[in-house]
Amino acid sequence: MSEIWVLVDTAQDKVRNVTYEVLAAASKLKEKNSSTICAVFIGESSGAIEDDLGKYGAEKFYKVENPVLKDFNPSLYATALSEIIKKNNPDIVLGGNTLKNQDYLPRVASRTGAGLTIDAIDIDISSESALQVKRYKYSGKSIATVSFHDVKPMIATIRLNAFKPIEGSGSPEVVSETVDLPVDDNYKVIETKIIPKERPELTEADKIVSGGRGMANGDNFKIVYDLADSIGAGAGASRAAVDSGWVPYEMQVGQTGKVVSPNLYVAVGISGSVQHYAGMGSSKVIVAINKDPDAPIFQKCDYGICGDLFDVLPVLTDEIKKLG
Ligand SMILES: Cc1cc2nc3c(=O)[nH]c(=O)nc-3n(C[C@H](O)[C@H](O)[C@H](O)COP(=O)(O)OP(=O)(O)OC[C@H]3O[C@@H](n4cnc5c(N)ncnc54)[C@H](O)[C@@H]3O)c2cc1C
Repeated sequence: MSEIWVLVDTAQDKVRNVTYEVLAAASKLKEKNSSTICAVFIGESSGAIEDDLGKYGAEKFYKVENPVLKDFNPSLYATALSEIIKKNNPDIVLGGNTLKNQDYLPRVASRTGAGLTIDAIDIDISSESALQVKRYKYSGKSIATVSFHDVKPMIATIRLNAFKPIEGSGSPEVVSETVDLPVDDNYKVIETKIIPKERPELTEADKIVSGGRGMANGDNFKIVYDLADSIGAGAGASRAAVDSGWVPYEMQVGQTGKVVSPNLYVAVGISGSVQHYAGMGSSKVIVAINKDPDAPIFQKCDYGICGDLFDVLPVLTDEIKKLG
């Protein structure tokens, strides 16, 4: 039977939500072609994650465990995945559109002769069993449908938050694979630093509040953080705010920042440039707060508040806090 592989993403020994989202995407394909959904782990040790993976749809669980895979090394990860692809011949390989996958999957595609497309917002299977991928073009102004032809496996990464995890029950068959992994001195991880996060990571956040040039300085971002904390949101920024040195680059949303897809995106003092929209346009609900009634963001939002952010934000945060 044909197989759809889903790459398992973990952080601090826990399965990241994006893995469950991609398992949900695989379930959509399975409805059409009855493939077996397989989770695939590559790393030092998977721990006891198979039950979690089974609960979200994995019927089989391939794992390549090796101490040399402790730190992410694109070359070794590419070797590990390429070798088990050649051995087991899956039809489709899916992963989250994470930096790690964007880094090593092109190498895997090149070594296995696979087709690859990244950042899908939806996927489907054609009547000829070809994977079809919808992805944004021209900074989100249009959506292209990309179809694979006569290539196997078909590899795609899926935008975070594009699919909702589907919880069920199940217990996957576990298959341990061994791959010869040569010592790789070209690439060495010297140190890994985990930056403590006060708020949800933007690419995984369900809600985001972002501030732009309208915040006028870095200290004023406190009212963005207050609103974000009152609703359990991540805090982002436009490039103008980042370039002004008010907030760090890791908060930048947009074409040259992070691509986010939360259920709620609140843009505060942000005009709504195409480059900013490219990073947050697929948010489910967009709320804009801006004092200029002609700001382009008002053409792109679901709800708009036209007013001075320094008047609006404190009141909004207080009212939300009252709701408990
Ligand atoms: C190649 C390239 C890549 C880029 N990548 C990115 C990217 O990744 N992300 C990104 O964001 N930009 C990016 N940009 C920059 C982008 O073009 C815009 O310059 C930027 O998004 C503008 O940020 P802004 O909306 O905060 O500022 P502005 O466009 O200056 O808008 C500020 C807004 O705040 C409002 N405002 C001011 N004061 C108040 C107040 N007191 N109350 C309420 N509203 C107020 C104003 O009415 C205005 O609409 C890129 C540009 C290029 C050329």
